[in-house]
Amino acid sequence: MTFPDLPPSLESALQERGYETATPVQAEVLQPEAHGRDLVVSAQTGSGKTIAFGLAMAAELLGTNDLVPPASAPLALVIAPTRELALQVSRELAWLYGKTGARIATCVGGMNPSQERSALRAGATIVVGTPGRLRDHLERGALDLSQLAAVVLDEADEMLDMGFREELEEILDATPQTRRTLLFSATMPRPIEALARRYQRDALRIAT
Ligand code: AMP
Repeated sequence: MTFPDLPPSLESALQERGYETATPVQAEVLQPEAHGRDLVVSAQTGSGKTIAFGLAMAAELLGTNDLVPPASAPLALVIAPTRELALQVSRELAWLYGKTGARIATCVGGMNPSQERSALRAGATIVVGTPGRLRDHLERGALDLSQLAAVVLDEADEMLDMGFREELEEILDATPQTRRTLLFSATMPRPIEALARRYQRDALRIAT
């Protein structure tokens, strides 16, 4: 197995899936220098970026017993530009974290909001969603971001291109200052740099 230093629950999930070698972006986010740091990652679709941020946020999610502890509010949040991408991310995290007891809620436009509220109330530890729907849940008091340890912006350039800057800022402003922020983007135009400057601290830049 060539994924360095993984928690056993994630290592065995990858093994069962037949993933034996880390892709370059996965190797980069797992290097010791990246541990616990905010990250700005240039990564294209197909690079293995979803598993990369899934692995990167393990340290914020797993307790000493290799399980995600039950929590009164979500510990990790992944924000993605489209419903399709959010559903795909949810599916990947579901098998990656399948042995950890993590509870994943997906919050996307076009789905039944009351079912999503129930999933959030039932104790979701990882939330994956699109900016508009996440903001709706936040504004209605259904999404509590006060315990968040890690937030991932997936395809951040797409989200800004689609006009979601206000939603992203409102969501990020509701998270604790102590959270870790992982920003993934295919391109790094100025608005992405501005977002990184405003919401990240001493971020490590990774380009593969
Ligand atoms: P993504 O860039 O996240 O869209 O991933 C592209 C595809 O590569 C997805 O189907 C992943 O499940 C798959 N994948 C991710 N990491 C690995 C790996 N280390 N080995 C083999 N396939 C992978």
